[in-house]
Amino acid sequence: MLDLDAFITGLPKAELHLHIEGSLEPEQMFEFARRNQVAIPYASVEEVRAAYDFSNLQDFLDIYYAGADVLRTEEDFRDLALAYFDRAAADGVLHAEIFFDPQTHTHRGIPFGVVANGLLAGMAAAEAKHGLTSKLILCFLRHLDEEDAFKTLSQAQPWIDRIDAVGLDSSELGHPPSKFERVFAAAAAMGLKRVAHAGEEGPPEYVYEALELLHVDRLDHGNRSLEDPALIARLARSGMTLTVCPLSNVKLCNVASIDVHPIDRMLRLGLRATVNSDDPAYFGGYVGDNFRAIAQGRTLDRDDLVTLARNSFLGSFLPDNAVATHLARLDAYVEAHT
Ligand SMILES: [Zn+2]
Repeated sequence: MLDLDAFITGLPKAELHLHIEGSLEPEQMFEFARRNQVAIPYASVEEVRAAYDFSNLQDFLDIYYAGADVLRTEEDFRDLALAYFDRAAADGVLHAEIFFDPQTHTHRGIPFGVVANGLLAGMAAAEAKHGLTSKLILCFLRHLDEEDAFKTLSQAQPWIDRIDAVGLDSSELGHPPSKFERVFAAAAAMGLKRVAHAGEEGPPEYVYEALELLHVDRLDHGNRSLEDPALIARLARSGMTLTVCPLSNVKLCNVASIDVHPIDRMLRLGLRATVNSDDPAYFGGYVGDNFRAIAQGRTLDRDDLVTLARNSFLGSFLPDNAVATHLARLDAYVEAHT
């Protein structure tokens, strides 16, 4: 019988909420800064880690955008992605659907293609190296305007067949999903899936808007849906996947501590919750760390952890036959470890 730690590491899983720029570890920030001769406002890796003490989403975003400035070349984006996939593979991740924020880069003069080509190269390398498959989700920065989002969607055209979905991230409060209704309609017309961050800091109304105006296929975070019983029932009934990020919620002070994180309540309410790392370099851990954090000292048992892993494949944008293959592998794993 394996201990819980080893059981979690080996548990076949998908990751559905990961910002690739948020996987930039301090060591890598220094390495990229050096090779691109970019000045950064920190003297050491320790100083960067000390700065990762946020009190809210905006505090985090300020340092996140500063860190992203060291990313300049296709090679940087490839190396960044592959470093994430290496860690994900070690955590039992078989498939990942990763976010990227093109506007963070195009606004500082990095062409869209440098970002996209670099990430796609990293994704191909991960599949060759680990057999880990992945999909790319283009996120619009919601603090910017609709026109800028449309411009980004237009820049994406030459790569659109290699992008699976659009998403919505950055500062949630004051930037409701309704601001991007027309952009999401345009993306849908191109055959892209849609996801959006909603209900992380924003109220349940933002979740309704994501469902009714953006027609999302998946909801990122969604925690504040728990304040609205009618919304909970609707999400449960429709089998909507929630990409929950426990360590992120604690780090950004949306949840008081990991011990009171509502992930178990979500499962008891019949919500299709999943566990993800969000911005792992900044929030204290990768997907395995998130699983371990919620498994310790909680009412979650081994079956719940398996349900969370099962939900990650069911909520992915993989075709049905690939989902079935992953679920069979998950069942075999559980069978072999009970
Ligand atoms: Zn996120």
